[in-house]
Amino acid sequence: MKKTILITGGAGFLGSHLCERLLHSGHEVLCVDNFFTGDKENIKHLFSHPLFELLRHDVTFPLYVEADEIYNLACPASPVHYQYDPVQTTKTSVHGAINMLGLAKRLKARILQASTSEVYGDPEIHPQTEDYWGRVNPIGPRSCYDEGKRCAETLFFDYHRQCQLDIKVVRIFNTYGPHMPPDDGRVVSNFIVQALRGEDLTVYGDGSQTRSFCYVDDLIDAMVLMMESPKGFTGPVNIGNPGEFTMLELAENVLRLTGSTSSIAFKPLPIDDPRQRRPDITLAKTKLGWEPKVCLEDGLRMTIEYFRKRLNIPPHTTFV
Ligand code: NAD
Ligand code: UDP
Repeated sequence: MKKTILITGGAGFLGSHLCERLLHSGHEVLCVDNFFTGDKENIKHLFSHPLFELLRHDVTFPLYVEADEIYNLACPASPVHYQYDPVQTTKTSVHGAINMLGLAKRLKARILQASTSEVYGDPEIHPQTEDYWGRVNPIGPRSCYDEGKRCAETLFFDYHRQCQLDIKVVRIFNTYGPHMPPDDGRVVSNFIVQALRGEDLTVYGDGSQTRSFCYVDDLIDAMVLMMESPKGFTGPVNIGNPGEFTMLELAENVLRLTGSTSSIAFKPLPIDDPRQRRPDITLAKTKLGWEPKVCLEDGLRMTIEYFRKRLNIPPHTTFV
């Protein structure tokens, strides 16, 4: 059945893939974005699509539109960008959630929150399961994002309990792929861009901290499955690829797959940088019948190809 679907943060990395996917499924898509980290380049190929509409809007202000479903993705996700204006980051998560939940309440619409593995902070439980409450610094440089996202989850569950709102919450672990901007600042795009330009790969700390990297197509599959899951299954549900790598392993993979002769430069570890992160995806497997299909090597190859084109670097060239 054709639905009208609102996507906040629709011009961003994940949002733009979601716009594509939902249009492809025959839905009408209303993409809302203030272009803080989003880019028209990500969605310009959709402008001529008859079912696509773009609205420049900041979700910290109320929004009056009509929709059947809402995906709430608006929020900068890269530490560099969310720490640039931390007050606005918290406002985006908290006021943005309040505004979108209020909208969903008026419309009686189902609403999905793009939450994050950051709600687990620097975890003592490994791998992380959804019932783990996390270890988050409430006053550090990452708190605007972590606590903002935690408060957004609180709001979602209170609207669910208090107003019977039909909510869905996914906790997304590090995801990468095409449509990340070259200056995004997150590790996968940084390493690939540095390798292709022949610059040193900036490994923070000693590079022994771990992350689990999910390719964007897998993530979008899971988000849509979650939105379409039976009423009453609210989550939170972990979405990520359980393959776990140190940042040094990631750097070595990127060097090998790009054929780059770049070196590794060690830089200071950012404050409160989590030591380890890996999702337990048992719940997603059981409830959504989902598990990731793309391994890191294949995902990196596709992402490298995207950045080669975007940076205009011909194959077999590793610097500009
Ligand atoms: P992104 O920065 O590329 O996208 C965020 C989008 O939100 C951008 O288009 C930005 O312009 C928009 N935005 C920011 N503030 C806004 C505001 N006040 N009003 C309207 N639009 C606003 O990041 P992404 O990786 O695509 O992440 C999308 C969502 O998924 C975020 O909520 C993020 O927290 C969550 N998430 C992503 C990851 C990941 O690894 N990519 C991991 C965990 C959670
Ligand atoms: N990192 C790195 N070099 C970079 C960017 C990030 O070594 O150029 C590290 C960072 O310190 C962290 C991991 O890579 O340990 C993932 O960082 P990212 O910003 O991608 O996401 P996070 O999971 O920290 O939000």
